[in-house]
Amino acid sequence: MDIITHTLSGVATGTVVMSFSPKGYKAKLGILSISGFGAALPDLDAISLWSRFDNLFGRLFNLEHSGKEIYFSKFWYSHHAFLHSILAAIIIALLIGSLTYLLSSKQKPKSFSGLISSLVNQKLILIGFLSGFIIHLIEDMPTPSCVWGGVNLFWPSHGYVGGTGDTWWWNNYDIFLIVITIIILNLVVSLLRPSNRLHPKKLTSVILIIGFSISLIQIKTRGFDFNYTGHTTRYDEFEVKSKELQRDILGPGIYNYMEKLDNKIPLNF
Ligand SMILES: [Zn+2]
Repeated sequence: MDIITHTLSGVATGTVVMSFSPKGYKAKLGILSISGFGAALPDLDAISLWSRFDNLFGRLFNLEHSGKEIYFSKFWYSHHAFLHSILAAIIIALLIGSLTYLLSSKQKPKSFSGLISSLVNQKLILIGFLSGFIIHLIEDMPTPSCVWGGVNLFWPSHGYVGGTGDTWWWNNYDIFLIVITIIILNLVVSLLRPSNRLHPKKLTSVILIIGFSISLIQIKTRGFDFNYTGHTTRYDEFEVKSKELQRDILGPGIYNYMEKLDNKIPLNF
């Protein structure tokens, strides 16, 4: 799925984690930011497609393969591999938590028990990061198999999960709009500080679950098989079909608006 929907999906899960924080707006904004960051991070493994990758990293690490070959392979550092796994999410979360502790000037001298209690104190930040990272992995599963056959969810296991081709790589405007709706509703719930009787934690969680369920229904009822293995000669056909489906789902008014927005964004969206 596209990087914008991924990042905003992380912000959406972050709105739920945020509602569990008793702290002020600064801390809550921190949770939202790291959740969005966590949701964007897995696609850092697409860096091998960067035009200067071969000149920079290829030479630096004396790589045998070109960036494009790496991207479309199944090395641990290829696209959809290690950085699209649960273990990567946990390792990076622990690294972030540990670095925050080590760089903090508050707790001195440093100790292992100090690190553990610091990680416990940072739990909402780290859960926000994990929630964003994991939602990215889930969103990539219904995209086509291509050369990978899904995401390497349980790395270092060699199995790939997903690659069902229920939806196209991008043009998932309906999912984008659902994600935006979740964010707005959950921010309203948090900002209006509803009475405790309304249980903001439960309310934001329910809104996320409903939004996630509607997204799942949308993706599973596209009524078109986008799947292919390896590379496809039908790429342009799939691209056109994915947009036709969006026009049918959203109606011409909203679709035209979304397409205009898409055309303004210099990324696949
Ligand atoms: Zn991805």
